[in-house]
Amino acid sequence: MFSQSPIVCNVPMDEPGRHIGSLDLMTSDNTHYYSVIPIPIAVFNNGEGPTVYVSAGTHGNEEQGQLVVRRLIADLNLSDIQGRLILIPSLNLPAARVSARVSPLDDANLNRSFPGDARSGPTSTIAHFLTNVLFPICDAGMDLHSAGREAGMPALTYLGLNPDKELTKRSYELLKAFGFPHAMICEDGGDGMDDSAHALKIPFIGAEFKGMSSADPAPLKQGMDAVLRFLVHTGVLKDPGNLPPPAETVLLDHRVLTSVRAPNEGFFWPAHEMLDEVKAGDVAGMLYSFDEIGREPTALTYPASGVVTMRRTHARCAAGDLVVSTAPVITSDDIL
Ligand SMILES: [Zn+2]
Repeated sequence: MFSQSPIVCNVPMDEPGRHIGSLDLMTSDNTHYYSVIPIPIAVFNNGEGPTVYVSAGTHGNEEQGQLVVRRLIADLNLSDIQGRLILIPSLNLPAARVSARVSPLDDANLNRSFPGDARSGPTSTIAHFLTNVLFPICDAGMDLHSAGREAGMPALTYLGLNPDKELTKRSYELLKAFGFPHAMICEDGGDGMDDSAHALKIPFIGAEFKGMSSADPAPLKQGMDAVLRFLVHTGVLKDPGNLPPPAETVLLDHRVLTSVRAPNEGFFWPAHEMLDEVKAGDVAGMLYSFDEIGREPTALTYPASGVVTMRRTHARCAAGDLVVSTAPVITSDDIL
């Protein structure tokens, strides 16, 4: 069916119906001898309408999105759909299976592997498949993350600005419909999934669920409601009429993100909660030396004013570890 990739899609993408199957990734290494790794995929194809893509598990240790997409597959009926909905709950399946950020097969980070190359290992092959096979048939898409286990983040949407203003506007409309309280504004031109989608002129956003892969009901519901609003906005999902309204999204400028790093090994006692507003020069927290317990703790300060957007999850840190990041607030007029 898709001869331009070594991945074989075994669901009949173009036939009406609810199809559950796999993207079969051919692999041959010490563990997999001429084997197929079946990456699960669900396709709901029901008449006229857009083709919309949603994935999770690009980073295998970010679990909430993987759960939300599985629930979508379980809950949605074919009659809820108008068009074609493509759902991939654990895109980097080898990483998801071992709950790791990068693939155990080649140590590659899937979200740094785009546009991908079908001859550069399994992770790059997955990226290549999306760029060359799946995205060209899509009208909109998004990829779900949840900040992993090392760094805590609030619920965030990601929007990459593209030189094509109309494309950025359409992606921004997705962001507004998704309706998380905060969004990070980045610049296209990197090696992420959204960069590849935007290069193909497909409106696309990413999201970080709050909760660092925990199974707390509140962030899971927040994420589920947001994905459903996104799907309704694209037109692929009929409006169930009972979704909570989107939040007014505060935009944070990731392009000028600043970070505080530990100058030496120790334990960090942070001074602020996530999303607190801070000023340049404010004390970000105190670093207590690991070895020299009689040494005065070191006050680490913020290099710039902004909002606390990321914090190291663990108190213990090594020299050079990021302990907290901030980004300034901007308005939609600054980006559109
Ligand atoms: Zn991630």
